[in-house]
Amino acid sequence: MEQQIQGYHDLFGEGIDHLHCPRCGAESLHQGEVIVYDRSEDQKTCVKTSVNAGQVSVDPKASNALNPSSRRHGLTIQFACEKCGDAPIILKIAQHKGSTRIGWAFQHVPLQASGAFHDSDLD
Ligand SMILES: [Zn+2]
Repeated sequence: MEQQIQGYHDLFGEGIDHLHCPRCGAESLHQGEVIVYDRSEDQKTCVKTSVNAGQVSVDPKASNALNPSSRRHGLTIQFACEKCGDAPIILKIAQHKGSTRIGWAFQHVPLQASGAFHDSDLD
């Protein structure tokens, strides 16, 4: 029997906000592929689950080569930015000992070529 979460919205409280593009600062990020790396501590392989464009794939003995955690669980969410181009932007979340780390991985794109908004545009 599936357990329902009661008061779901209360779990988010007031802390939800816009995520900004790490490359240009815009709020126009579109979510793409989500990958979850389920890994017991220091296991050589992990269960890799990918969800993208209505498709789900599961590899129960995947490599940890792209797992953002060096030893445990991790997940990545790929984004595309409306303002600075199609070069992928990856949000990475990694379990590291007793803490959770978060960070970006992205390719730099010359902002003047992307049409992105700049503070200097206000001058
Ligand atoms: Zn951007």
